[in-house]
Amino acid sequence: MTVDCDVHQGNGTAAIFSGTREASDPLPSRASFVPSRADVRSATAGDVFTISLHQENNYPAWKPTSSIDVNLPDGTGDDDYLAWLDNALSSGLRQFEPELICYIAGADPYREDQLGGLALTIAGLKRRDELMFRVARAREIPVMVTFAGGYARRVEDTVTIHCNTVIAAKEVFGG
Ligand SMILES: [Zn+2]
Repeated sequence: MTVDCDVHQGNGTAAIFSGTREASDPLPSRASFVPSRADVRSATAGDVFTISLHQENNYPAWKPTSSIDVNLPDGTGDDDYLAWLDNALSSGLRQFEPELICYIAGADPYREDQLGGLALTIAGLKRRDELMFRVARAREIPVMVTFAGGYARRVEDTVTIHCNTVIAAKEVFGG
């Protein structure tokens, strides 16, 4: 399972694994979101389940269909984001039993990011990491983390966000 929390949609994994999963019901944050039938591919092996939380109004303009896409409106803040992540993880883990979660810990949902239009705080991003790790630990699913994004006006903020991901992992999995 991939859980892509970069502000930009996980178009790479969505495209690469599009033939391995049938798109599930999306979790639209906007009632107007209706997936095109052309975006729903036929299911085959079911090898990789892809989840992406991203800003709808951002790159890429054309978003290939993930197993679960959460298209967030501009300015989404901590509480709404965390609720959508919790919802997406719960839904995904009801449908699929991953042997490994590949977590893309994007720093660019940060409200001071120059390429992102969401509004998470540094503390909210750490809560996001903690939520991901707690969910995985509760189900004894190993997590592989990649850092991604991070174009904060102050580079120190991007560094803090990435360091907090490591700290969150230590807090949840360590000791
Ligand atoms: Zn990004």
